Amino acid sequence: MAAVVPEVVVIGSANMDLVTRAPRFPLPGETVLGSKFTTFTGGKGANQACAIAKLGGRPRFIGKVGNDSFGLQIISSLRQIGVDTANVFAEQDLVTGTAMITVTDSGENTIVVAGGANARVDPDFVNERLSKFEFNTVLMQLETPVSTVQEIIRKKKLAILNPAPASDLPDEIYHGLDWITPNETETHRLTGVRPIDTESCRKAAAWFLQHGVKNVVITLGAKGSFLVNSQIEIHCPTIEVKTIDTTAAGDAFNGALAQFLNEGRDGQNAVMLANRAGALATTKLGAQASLPSRDELRAVSSGLF
Ligand code: ADP
Repeated sequence: MAAVVPEVVVIGSANMDLVTRAPRFPLPGETVLGSKFTTFTGGKGANQACAIAKLGGRPRFIGKVGNDSFGLQIISSLRQIGVDTANVFAEQDLVTGTAMITVTDSGENTIVVAGGANARVDPDFVNERLSKFEFNTVLMQLETPVSTVQEIIRKKKLAILNPAPASDLPDEIYHGLDWITPNETETHRLTGVRPIDTESCRKAAAWFLQHGVKNVVITLGAKGSFLVNSQIEIHCPTIEVKTIDTTAAGDAFNGALAQFLNEGRDGQNAVMLANRAGALATTKLGAQASLPSRDELRAVSSGLF
């Protein structure tokens, strides 16, 4: 009988996104009458956990929310999508993370994030949770403390970091990472190289490899992604889709990459599938609502499954 593979662990943020539509941005001190208000559950960690659940995994999400109505709503929504929320704590003295988003009629937006409980997803909490079960693969981002990433890489499991939003990282982290998955902006911020063509992608990827990361995937939006490790350098194309909203393309990509690597697929195959998951996420409005199911992904991945 085949051994059961432990599910992916996702450590990261969970937020409530509060979105208001307005004819234009208010000036300082001004009130503008908006037209529509909507709430969405979000946060990169929660989105990436949902991406995995939609693809048929049952990821263990480690995170924190406040013991308030937003926090309880987030947990219930994650659970409904198929995320294991046993390690999401709703803490009495904390406030759920929020993102206040204003979208104007011309499509521009401003976002103010209040991290709240996400700042308390610290090494002690995560260590205590991880002592309770077996795991092979951990997916992380940077909306929760960097000290937690630093702690995880010492555990010698398959560590994947989506360095979003980009911030300076100690060298020790790069050395302990199996995978890093920056987009164009994050690549530029971290390496100083803007990945605009093969030469610059190669240069940026070399920076990460020299810092000790084993596999680098630079995600390039509609241009797919650039995968490099000590053996290969491949530009992996994505598929052409009718893009409506690019929100959560990166989250779909990262969730899929972690899930398919955890299933034992090779890096290139996992990246090709993750490209398609990212592409499909751009064909629908929203974040968690736009993440593709395994069947939807299979339908555009002939020869890859
Ligand atoms: P982020 O959302 O973090 O900025 P990207 O925009 O690079 O990340 O998207 C992640 C991946 O999703 C890309 O590498 C690509 O494979 C896929 N993708 C994103 N946008 C598109 C698009 N418009 N068409 C096809 N694939 C896309």
